[in-house]
Amino acid sequence: MDAVTLPREHMLAILREALPDGILLTGADEMERYTRDWSGDHFGLPLAVARPRSVDEVSALMRCCSLHGVPVVPQGGLTGLVGAAVAAPGGGEVVISLERMNRLRSISAIDFAMVVEAGCILEEAKRYAEAEDCILPITFGAQGSCRIGGNVATNAGGFNVLRYGMTRDLVLGLEVVLADGRVWNGLKLLRKDNRGYDLKQLFIGSEGTLGIVTAVSLKLFPKPTQVETALVGLRSVEDAMALYARARRECSDLLTAFELILRGGIEIALGARSGLRDPLSEVCPVYVLIEASAGGRVDLRAILQDFLISAEDLVVDGVVASSRAQGDQLWLLRELMVEAQGRGGRYLRTDVSVPISTLSGFVEDALAALSKSHPHALPVTYGHVGDGNIHLNVVPPVGMGAGEIDSLFHETEEVIFEVVDRYGGSLSAEHGIGKVKQNAFLKRIDEVSLDLAGRIKDALDPGAIMSRGRIFLPRAADSGSR
Ligand SMILES: Cc1cc2nc3c(=O)[nH]c(=O)nc-3n(C[C@H](O)[C@H](O)[C@H](O)COP(=O)(O)OP(=O)(O)OC[C@H]3O[C@@H](n4cnc5c(N)ncnc54)[C@H](O)[C@@H]3O)c2cc1C
Repeated sequence: MDAVTLPREHMLAILREALPDGILLTGADEMERYTRDWSGDHFGLPLAVARPRSVDEVSALMRCCSLHGVPVVPQGGLTGLVGAAVAAPGGGEVVISLERMNRLRSISAIDFAMVVEAGCILEEAKRYAEAEDCILPITFGAQGSCRIGGNVATNAGGFNVLRYGMTRDLVLGLEVVLADGRVWNGLKLLRKDNRGYDLKQLFIGSEGTLGIVTAVSLKLFPKPTQVETALVGLRSVEDAMALYARARRECSDLLTAFELILRGGIEIALGARSGLRDPLSEVCPVYVLIEASAGGRVDLRAILQDFLISAEDLVVDGVVASSRAQGDQLWLLRELMVEAQGRGGRYLRTDVSVPISTLSGFVEDALAALSKSHPHALPVTYGHVGDGNIHLNVVPPVGMGAGEIDSLFHETEEVIFEVVDRYGGSLSAEHGIGKVKQNAFLKRIDEVSLDLAGRIKDALDPGAIMSRGRIFLPRAADSGSR
């Protein structure tokens, strides 16, 4: 028996003894699907995968891990893309998958609220809401795979943020198992509650570093009876942002999505599936996918159509979907563009935000900086620009070797982040820091923020067993021993 096997077997024996049967997976084959994220770019080797069925089981697991200093990483649907949810490569971390804690605990159309367990897939939670004639408005491409706990831990955004806010704005309460195994029951349905600190906010967006979210109470909204979708072509990002400013006011603030796609993105989508036609008769440099929704006695289609006619100084060409099916076809272009970027292999993903009023200047400057520094790389630009959030991705030239791709990603990311800095923006609007954005984040964080964050981490996870090395570096004392 070698030196590595012994501690592993020893740890596993301790865990097996502390937990009821049927929770731990330890074989390489059975752990395989928990080792890689959605992109395939991030891989980790777990010590074991724990799949608890109840909050008591999560609590027992954390008590044991805390007592013996076993590092853990909570895992949802593995769509987070910043390398945070897979185990470290060295085989020392226990992955805690919440997939078996996926029940709807309660739902009330009068409270406009639901309580779901953290392992519930987002799409499933949305279906529960719709069955009560409500909506859970968190909406994005990965909704068929990501889980509510992951959405909370990353403070997920998506297409509808401009109307309903980020996940943070939709969380009424949380149930969290702390690093030492205690259960914090902060599950509430209250809209107003000013009793002291709002502790749930600490866990939202904490990327698994402060506690295991086991259940969430979420705000719901009345299900709209009308949804209208339009795709318009414009001359520039500046015109797109001018259209956005007007649309918010002139469509009675009924917009639910305002997605920018540059022509290159439309071409990627059209090339992704045979039989797709250019959606507009004019080829434009910039497109915007607009969605508005409403209930009650509102003629939403007339509002949207009249608005687009009134904006003819900005709109070069456009179509308002005549049916839900046609609306879905327009959204398909957006989805295909995201999927198809990765078909040629790895590409750099960025997920940045700047003040909305400066977005067109930012895009222009960032693209100019990229074309000067790396003229052979292909930038793909799209985003939830109603929130000032843009994905400025970089696809490497065909045939580039793996080492060169790594350098390209590193260099182009810095080029983009330097422009983000100039605009007072954020290098992570949605996906979080994880491991992938850690260097860039730590290079920029101020001393006071770093100190406060460190104190919060020490208070909630004194043994530093939770998602070690994600967002912040592991403390020197924590990393050596295991
Ligand atoms: C095609 C595609 C489109 C996307 N579009 C968007 C978008 O528009 N907006 C957006 O915000 N994101 C988007 N994402 C990113 C991703 O879907 C979100 O970050 C999502 O919230 C992650 O959820 P998950 O369950 O997959 O979490 P994971 O990837 O499994 O985990 C993410 C992080 O949360 C932690 N975590 C997971 N569960 C828990 C828990 N129960 N308790 C504590 N910590 C936990 C993990 O440790 C990790 O740090 C997209 C991803 C893809 C692949």
